[in-house]
Amino acid sequence: MSNIVLETKNLVKRFGGFAATNDVSLKVEKGARQALIGPNGAGKTTLINLLTGVLEPTSGTVILNGEDITKLPSHQRVHRGIVRTFQINQLFNEMTPLQSLALVVSNQLGISARLWQALGRDPRVGERCDVLLNQFHLDDVQDQKVALLAYGKRRQLEIATALACAPKVLLLDEPVAGVPEGERQEIFDIVNALPAEVTVLLIEHDMDLVFNFAKTVSVLVNGALFAEGDVKSISTDPRVKAVYLGEGHHG
Ligand code: ADP
Ligand code: MG
Repeated sequence: MSNIVLETKNLVKRFGGFAATNDVSLKVEKGARQALIGPNGAGKTTLINLLTGVLEPTSGTVILNGEDITKLPSHQRVHRGIVRTFQINQLFNEMTPLQSLALVVSNQLGISARLWQALGRDPRVGERCDVLLNQFHLDDVQDQKVALLAYGKRRQLEIATALACAPKVLLLDEPVAGVPEGERQEIFDIVNALPAEVTVLLIEHDMDLVFNFAKTVSVLVNGALFAEGDVKSISTDPRVKAVYLGEGHHG
């Protein structure tokens, strides 16, 4: 049995003549804590979009647990266990965290997604929501409208929603983007505490957060895989440093 859960082979995505993803062959092991880093415009989000079926590749393949899923639509990939959060917040502002999670959990359990049924009819929904609300530090705000939540809490709810989909592979695209500095560590604490059996591939700019989270780091530059290794080898790699030194910000 291979311990590779997710793999790309020679993945290419062209926009016109421009290769946003350039011959990427990436392997993600089961239970990995893997970070995808690289300068702005390196193709990180595009790669996640190819993995999740938001985009179709120009060529190459995406393989999940040995199955070629390159042509599968997004929702079927979610069924098979690839779940992502977006770089930009995608929650329903008028709902509460409890309601948001209840919808996803009831859907997971095969219960009609009507809210009053989701919350009222099946105790398993409430129980699972309680666990998630606690795990993601949302108990205090579970009945507040999402629109009124602090931005960090919204991101926590997003990850909670993704985890409620029972992912095998969780893809997090900049989970602390836009979050004030003081709220970032809490989110990473939650990410670091995700169940070990859930494979996590994460895009993040802040190198301190990356190096505290990841075991494996993959570096994308100009759409191509530029370097890959454990935290120590990547953080001391002069070629990787050189890529970042040219940037206006750290990470
Ligand atoms: P990153 O997430 O690493 O910052 P992206 O994957 O968002 O980078 O973008 C990689 C490159 O592909 C960028 O130059 C971007 O402008 C380009 N790109 C992304 N999406 C599209 C699109 N839908 N059409 C044209 N160009 C795109
Ligand atoms: Mg991006």
